[in-house]
Amino acid sequence: MTQSLRPVHVIGGGLSGAEAAWQIARRGVPVVLHEMRPQRSTAAHRSADFAELVCSNSFRSDDASGSAIGLLHAEMRRLGSLVMRAGDAHKLPAGGALAVDRDGFAAAITAALEGERLIEIRREEVSDPPLDWDSVIIATGPLTSPPLAETIGNLTGEAALAFFDAIAPIVHRDSIDFDVAWFQSRYDKTGPAGSGADYINCPLTRAQYDAFVDALVTGEKTAFRDFETTHYFEGCLPIEVMAERGRETLRHGPMKPFGLTDPRNPDVKPYAVVQLRQDNRLGTLFNMVGFQTKLKHGEQVRIFRTIPGLANAEFARLGGLHRNTFLNSPRLLDATLRLKAMPRLRFAGQITGCEGYVESAAIGLLAGRFVAAERLGEQPSLPPPTTAHGALLNHITGGHLETIDAGPRSFQPMNINFGLFPPLGGAARDARKQALCARALADLEAWIGRAIPHAAE
Ligand SMILES: Cc1cc2nc3c(=O)[nH]c(=O)nc-3n(C[C@H](O)[C@H](O)[C@H](O)COP(=O)(O)OP(=O)(O)OC[C@H]3O[C@@H](n4cnc5c(N)ncnc54)[C@H](O)[C@@H]3O)c2cc1C
Repeated sequence: MTQSLRPVHVIGGGLSGAEAAWQIARRGVPVVLHEMRPQRSTAAHRSADFAELVCSNSFRSDDASGSAIGLLHAEMRRLGSLVMRAGDAHKLPAGGALAVDRDGFAAAITAALEGERLIEIRREEVSDPPLDWDSVIIATGPLTSPPLAETIGNLTGEAALAFFDAIAPIVHRDSIDFDVAWFQSRYDKTGPAGSGADYINCPLTRAQYDAFVDALVTGEKTAFRDFETTHYFEGCLPIEVMAERGRETLRHGPMKPFGLTDPRNPDVKPYAVVQLRQDNRLGTLFNMVGFQTKLKHGEQVRIFRTIPGLANAEFARLGGLHRNTFLNSPRLLDATLRLKAMPRLRFAGQITGCEGYVESAAIGLLAGRFVAAERLGEQPSLPPPTTAHGALLNHITGGHLETIDAGPRSFQPMNINFGLFPPLGGAARDARKQALCARALADLEAWIGRAIPHAAE
């Protein structure tokens, strides 16, 4: 049967493209894998190997019973991931984390792909997938080459493809102190999809605001990389840059107190207010409005926990500004990662709006499974939303809120975290995480049993 199947074309041999190609071939479907390195490189890659780790060599926590990323590792192993197999084979001592020997890891992935009979490797840049490629996965990552980015931009519309992420920190709602914070929209406006009480508000007195501005100005920042310096929008300046422009700038920008009344103290207007806006449909995550920042991660935690109501805040992700090519996926992609407007094109990896080596590989794994099922005439089966794969996929294809009111598009790339999972009530936080992991692994087994005959090979 394999002889008669037309190949799937995978563009990009990074973490996601390598995993996708492997998964497709494992199902007996031929693949042509197009990778532009070494002919052409990106600003971050250094080698010609597949699945090169461009920065850290860590896959983060390997704890499958209490951490979301460890759970994702476990699920990927169960689903026959090449990336996890090579990571495990080249692991280095790193406490509870899975760190890998980057050269050994990438060499193992490269050897596996080169040795797979159903994978043909072409070292070439693809600028515009030809029309006779009837099934394509685009997995070209955060540094997609400019000609292909232009093609994607033309297909999706300028505003649907971002070249920079400006990320405000995202907080787990259940870590916010509602003895201090309260729900209210500015001037109680409802907007197109709101209730008049959509934002979480954290009030600051003048002394608290002054101390906060000082901390922002003196806090340690991360430098832009060489290839990132050209980009700096007035529309989304880092919060510390606004603070440097003048003591009152933030109070007239993202921290303005107008139209908000603290119900516990209605006669005293807060001097400034930090607002958090709902970030996912589940209502478990809230982003700090206008708080994109280049402060170092440790500094963000230290400084943002001085905000009243956020003293014990747990962050699902911290803020940042990076060069990053990614789609407005919730609007553009269907449930199996196909471009709605042109279903022969599927996307995988960081370009879809996940973040991180492992998450990118996991989305490559799913895209590979979906496309292979399609080629074999089967109905692609979606992982349950209670699994780490399902939660991540749901963030990309639907779980994220486009916007609460008429505000700007808010979809931003994200690592896997428990805020993306349908919540479980009761129990203390640590016990809840364990229960979420146990539920995920049980649901994954049930899914494997019912839906994907080759999943456990
Ligand atoms: C500077 C930087 C540092 C990062 N640091 C970390 C980190 O420490 N930890 C972490 O977890 N994540 C990190 N990330 C995120 C990381 O990029 C992703 O997690 C992961 O590599 C993305 O996987 P991917 O497969 O989507 O893209 P990539 O791994 O980047 O793979 C994309 C591949 O596509 C190829 N390609 C691009 N355009 C074309 C084209 N037109 N034709 C053919 N091939 C093409 C590229 O050469 C590349 O091999 C970092 C990202 C950047 C940019």
